[in-house]
Amino acid sequence: MTAAELDGLTAVVTGGASGIGLATATLLAERGARVAVLDLDPSAVPEPLLGFTADVSDDASVSGAVEAAAEALGGIDILVNNAGIGAIGTVADNPDEQWLRVLDVNLVGVVRTTRAALPHLRRSTRASVVNLGSIVVTTGLPQRALYAASKGAVHSLTLSMAADHVREGIRVNCVSPGTVDTPWVGRLLDAADDPAAERAALNARQPHGRLVTPEEVAAAIAYLVSPAAGSTTGMTLQVDGGMANLRLRPQ
Ligand code: NAD
Repeated sequence: MTAAELDGLTAVVTGGASGIGLATATLLAERGARVAVLDLDPSAVPEPLLGFTADVSDDASVSGAVEAAAEALGGIDILVNNAGIGAIGTVADNPDEQWLRVLDVNLVGVVRTTRAALPHLRRSTRASVVNLGSIVVTTGLPQRALYAASKGAVHSLTLSMAADHVREGIRVNCVSPGTVDTPWVGRLLDAADDPAAERAALNARQPHGRLVTPEEVAAAIAYLVSPAAGSTTGMTLQVDGGMANLRLRPQ
């Protein structure tokens, strides 16, 4: 992919102030796109990224921010639905309020942002959407019932969105990361008794012996939104060091 592959395109990245979203927004800008980040707190987003305050669990907030971003960018060709939150526990552990909160951000947040961006995407000749899924949908993981259910819905939503909009020329794909070294995972490690030992154990559990980097996930997203992927839609691309497919036994 050349540096200018995304020249002239405009992109909106939700949750783009941290981790995978920030790496993605940065890479899309390096490849030539004009990029707006929508986040609860975009105050530290570096130039040339444009920051807009938005809460994807609030319809008025999202639609206002999408309109402001579209106006500043001069349209929207690319939407990356990346904002998400985690949840720990089995079905026995979380009350209804917590289920509804996580679904509201991780699932309905994707719906709200896409709905707001659709009129702009329809005006683009190179429109595409990437949703952030998760490896837990494929592998299952203890203590992640609520998070996995929310991301499983995003995986299946991706397919239906792709079918609904393929005739309009809007591609919709999903990237499914393994364990990525972001502030999110850093917070989980910091909460352990021995964060260094926990990090070493986490690395050892990955088939390729280390965490996925945010830049590796960003590169997959940048490919999927590029003209080079012009015939790819309804696809889930795993960026997980082989976790989902290789089914390695512990050594
Ligand atoms: P992160 O916590 O580092 O960043 C998430 C960003 O989303 C933050 O800037 C936060 O402010 C923003 N955000 C959260 N709630 C929001 C809301 N309601 N409205 C707007 N913005 C909101 O997380 P990350 O690790 O970079 O994860 C990004 C995405 O990737 C999430 O959807 C996550 O589920 C997914 N993912 C992460 C991993 C991982 O191991 N880190 C693995 C699989 C999938």
